[in-house]
Order: sequence, then structure tokens, then C-alpha cells
Amino acid sequence: MTKRQARPTTERQSARRATTEQAVEQVPRRGRRKPGPQREADFVVIGAGSGGVAAARRAAVLGARVVLVERGEIGGTCVNRGCVPKKMLSYGAGLAAILSGCLSHTGGKEDWSDAIVRVNAEMARLQVAYTHRLQEAGVELLRGDATVIAPDQVQVGAQAIRAKRILVATGARPRTLPVPGGELACSSDDIFTWQSLPASLVVIGGGYVAVEQASILSRYGVKVEMLVREDRLLARFDHEIAHALAEALAAKGVRLHFNTEVTLLNQANGAIDVCYRQRDAAGNGEDRIRTVRAQAALAAIGRAPHWEGLGLETLGVQKAEKGGIRVDRSFRSRVRSIHAIGDAIDGLHLTPVATAQGRWLADRLFGRRGDRADFDLVPTAVFCEPAIGSVGLTEAAAIAAAGKPERIETVVRRFVSLETRFAGGEQASMVKLVVNARSGRVLGAHMMDNAAPEIVQALAVALRLGVKLSHLQTTVQLHPTVAEELFG
Ligand code: NDP
Repeated sequence: MTKRQARPTTERQSARRATTEQAVEQVPRRGRRKPGPQREADFVVIGAGSGGVAAARRAAVLGARVVLVERGEIGGTCVNRGCVPKKMLSYGAGLAAILSGCLSHTGGKEDWSDAIVRVNAEMARLQVAYTHRLQEAGVELLRGDATVIAPDQVQVGAQAIRAKRILVATGARPRTLPVPGGELACSSDDIFTWQSLPASLVVIGGGYVAVEQASILSRYGVKVEMLVREDRLLARFDHEIAHALAEALAAKGVRLHFNTEVTLLNQANGAIDVCYRQRDAAGNGEDRIRTVRAQAALAAIGRAPHWEGLGLETLGVQKAEKGGIRVDRSFRSRVRSIHAIGDAIDGLHLTPVATAQGRWLADRLFGRRGDRADFDLVPTAVFCEPAIGSVGLTEAAAIAAAGKPERIETVVRRFVSLETRFAGGEQASMVKLVVNARSGRVLGAHMMDNAAPEIVQALAVALRLGVKLSHLQTTVQLHPTVAEELFG
């Protein structure tokens, strides 16, 4: 299955857009639109993803005249090509895992075509809900491509908008594999448009998207092979958790190949050949050239900030190290009236980070001195199966910060959850705490279990407040839970 074959008709997408547009017309506007081609606004936000929507709504609630420009679907990557559809599919995959364990005699299996219909319904519902909420707040939604033609002027089609402040919240796009034939690989954006699944898939990458999609799609019956450049998965996560996850994925049938460098993709009789070089892990310099054939290939090698074509560089807006818009701590670019947040800047590319940045910026620009979110301690999750939740320092980062390994202690527990036992499984879950040996302060918490993301979100507050291991040990456990493994 090639990328193009995998792409379905656009009927669903046009149906979704029609539903959204209908809803736009049903909601009465608040009469902020000025007639004529040139109009005034306090705040023009380009991009209606998580960050842009949050900033636009907050600014409008604070009384600013806000125009939000979007050329695609409301909700951006999170709603349409990221968090929401992925999380729903991971629920389906998780249910399939439990059902196939409990009901192995009936072969309880989740069906992709049924799942994707339910995912699309939720995406459409969210687009309508977002649109309503924006209009209720008084944000004017303008459809089209925006170009910033002056530090205080945005052009959308034939309309020019003069604005005191401009916010670029245009997100990021999947990177294309930089090898011959790289365009044959699809991106995670494409997966959510698949009507049916390929029988086999090569996943290139070892980060969030690669791990999540490998896990989800294998649960839907796809034969998955992963080509990972490093010698481990999830380079930014704690090594023990990543190692445990690799074992869990392998046990579920995902074939993992580490130390690989993809060199070429070729079309081969309706399939794709992915050629790669595998470094000799023993260091004898005997690299091996291999090929893996599958019906489809997925490149999950990161996402690049997307702000070309907006005309920003000619105005003096600068690029930062990783390709995002260079901004200061107040999200202001080198052009003082132009701000940027979320995936369009360097930093953590996570939906809640963009949302927090957008709200804080709107507060700051339009009257309220909001508290800045703590961007140094951001909880994060990988929605694979079992899921990973993580907050704070990894063991390696804590040792690097402390200077000496003996200054850091770890508490590691492995256990089989009741959920897994009920499904007849043996897969161990894992909890790891990274602790300052002298003060007892917990510096990082890392978990692998399907409950991990929910637990780690709450634990992030405790870490921010300086929780010590002794606090956890003297808090009475709630039994039977997965969270109790962190206590006692
Ligand atoms: P990540 O940055 O997480 O991972 C990229 C992976 O691709 C790394 O393993 C990297 O290897 C590898 N890679 C990079 N270039 C190449 C190459 N040329 N050939 C082979 N491998 C390569 O990116 P993702 O695409 O997985 O996700 C993009 C962003 O989206 C993430 O940074 C995350 O912020 C966000 N996201 C968040 C999710 C969540 O919160 N649950 C879910 C999905 C996405 P190396 O380590 O060697 O560089």
C-alpha cells in the first residue's frame, strides 16, 4: 500500500468541514466585523490549533478585538492529526488487548474501519465545539491563507487587517525522510485518513509518534517493524523505562531494529522496500546492509516548525536553532509586535504547553497579569501500550545535574497490574523514582502502565511543591490501585 493508495476519499473531510461551517453560520456574531477591505483589530492570531485558539479566546474574553485566521481545520494538529484521534485509537487498541486476553476464545478484536468512524465523529464534534466557543468569546474566525505584510498588517485573501499585535501559532509539520525515495513513506497525518490498514508497516523513528503508532497499529493487526536510529527507544525518556517498553513491544510482536540508518526507499510490486544500514553494536566496524519489505512505511522522524510563506523573515523575524521562530521569554520575536508560541517556536512541542503559552501571552498583552505556567517541569506521556508517563528529571539527567552518581538514588518497582492479570497477561508494569540522595527530594517520576499518564499528571503538582520520598512513604496507599506502587 503506498501513501497515495492509503489516502481515502476526501468525502469525510468535506462532510466535517460542512458541519463546522454550518455551525459557524448558526451562531450569531457579535458585530465586531468592520465593513470594507481594511479593518482594525487588537490581535490577529494566525493558526487555530491549541495555542492559537487558547490565545484568541483569552484575549477576546479580556475585551480585545480578535481575528483568528485559519486555512485548514479548526483545532489544528491536536484535534485533527494528533492527540485526539491517536488517543481514541489507543483506547481501541487497549480494549482489543484486554478483550483478546479475556475473550481469546471469541477472538475479540477491535476493527479499524469501525474505530476510524468513531474517531472522525469526535473530531467533527470538537471542531464544531471549538468554533462555537470561539464565537461565544467574540473571536472572529477568518478562513484563508495569512501573510504578514508589515509588522502591524496581515493580508488574508483580499482583506487587509491592521493589528496592534500579531501571534503566529502555525504549528509544525512532519519531517520528510531525507533519503532517495523518502517521499514514499507516509506521515502520522496520513494514518488518520486511512480507511483500511496495510498488512505490514515499517516504522522509521524511535520517538513519540513512532512508538505510539507501532503500538496502536500492531494491536489492530498490522505486522510492524521499527527501524530506530539510536540503540534505544524514546531518547528523551528514562533509559530503564524505555528498555522496559522495548521488551513490552517486542513481546506483543513488534520487531525492533536498533542502530539503523535508513538509506533508500523503493517501490516494489505494490509494497515498499526500505533499505538500511545497521551499525555493528559490538563496534567491530562490520555494518550490515539490509532491506525490509512492507506494504507501507511510516516516517516518524520529528516535526519541523512551520512558518515559511508567512512573509516573516523579510520583516526581520529570526529563526532559532531548531528552526522555530526566535522569541524571548515573553514569546516576542525580534519584531516587537509579532509573537509566536507552540510548535512554531523551539522548545517542547506539546499541546498543553502551547495552550498555556497562548493563555499567558493573551493575559499579558491584554490586561491581566496571569501566573506563568511552569515550563521547566512538564508532565508528558506516550500513549503506547503499556503507556508511559514521565515528569521531572531522568536518572541520567539528574546525575549530570548533580555532578556525581552517588548524589542520586533511584527507587524502582516492577509489578503485574490487576488489569493485566485479569486479561491473563504477565507484562510487568514499572515505576521509577529519581531522588536527591541527601535531601530526599523527588526529582523525577517515570512509569510504564496504562494508568501512568493519569497518575503522573497529578504527581507533577507534588514534584513542583518539592515532594520528598518520605512524604510518599508516609501517605496511606489507596488499594488496589496502580498508583499505590509509588507509595509505602
Ligand atoms: P520525536 O522528536 O519524538 O522523535 C523523532 C525520532 O526520529 C527520534 O527517534 C530520532 O532519532 C528519529 N530520527 C530523526 N531523524 C531521523 C532520520 N533521518 N532517520 C531515522 N530516524 C530519525 O518526533 P516524533 O515525530 O515522534 O514526534 C514529533 C513531536 O510531536 C514530538 O517531539 C512531540 O513533542 C510531539 N508528540 C507528542 C505526543 C504526546 O505528547 N504523546 C505524541 C506524538 C507527538 P534520534 O534520537 O537519533 O534523533
